[in-house]
Order: sequence, then C-alpha cells, then structure tokens
Amino acid sequence: MLKLNIPSYKMIEIKNLIFDYNGTLAKDGLVKDTTKNKLNKLSEKVNIYVLTADTFNNAKKNLKDTNVNLHIISKENGTNDKGDFIKELGNKDSIAIGNGNNDIEMIKNVELGICILGDEGCSTFTMINSDLVIKNIDDCLDLFINPKRLIATLRK
Ligand SMILES: [Mg+2]
Repeated sequence: MLKLNIPSYKMIEIKNLIFDYNGTLAKDGLVKDTTKNKLNKLSEKVNIYVLTADTFNNAKKNLKDTNVNLHIISKENGTNDKGDFIKELGNKDSIAIGNGNNDIEMIKNVELGICILGDEGCSTFTMINSDLVIKNIDDCLDLFINPKRLIATLRK
C-alpha cells in the first residue's frame, strides 16, 4: 500500500500500479536494468501490472527478473482491454502509467493517471487526460519511491 495525501488535491491509498509496456516501461521492446530494479523495490509495497499487446513478442522474456504481473491484451482492441482491466481490478486503488492513445481509458479512469513522454513520445490526447506528465520511466518510478516529490507537484 502506498498512501498519498496530496493537499487540496486528493488523499489516495494505492494498491496497484498499472503500466503500459512499449514506450512506457520499454524502449524498442527492452526494459533497462535500472527500471527493473525500481519495479522490484516498488513491488514490496504495491502490486504491479503490465498490460501490453506485446508488439515485439518479448515482454515475458524481458520482465522475467521482475516481480510484475504481465497481461497480454489484444492488438485490435487494446484501449478497451486496458480500460476493462482497470475496472475489474479497482480504479480507486490504482495508478495507471502510459504513453499511447490506447492508454486513454486506463489513465482517465484511475485515481492518478500519469503520462510518460519518454524517447518514443506520447499521445497528446492521453497527455491532456493525465494528472501528470513525466519525461521518463525511471523518474516516474522515483516519484513512488520518494512520494514527497509527487505530492509537491500535485498539491494545490
Ligand atoms: Mg505505449
């Protein structure tokens, strides 16, 4: 559980972090070791889910050293698949992190939606529906490891 009390914004208790894969956790289908280490550290506090259409067919192999739950979604209907996954899991207990157009339903429907700009860019549609935009995944994961940074940005 990750408790975030963000003054004049919201008080949230997070059980789940849900990530898009390509362009968010991975670049060209690969996840950096620094990212894997931060995911494993966070997995001591929260459940971590990765939702991907697995474009490069290598997500399982690349995430084998991590404590994440991998879910393969459809290539044709990814937006709804991701949105449905969040609804089943519990949108009040979750933070979603993504970069693409097909992340919109998950980012819009959780307590905190985060858009990663990354090296592959992000959808402007998803960006304007997010609570926060972060330039890369490792900086994003550091926000959960050091929540005061996140609170400082979002307090009103
Ligand atoms: Mg993506």
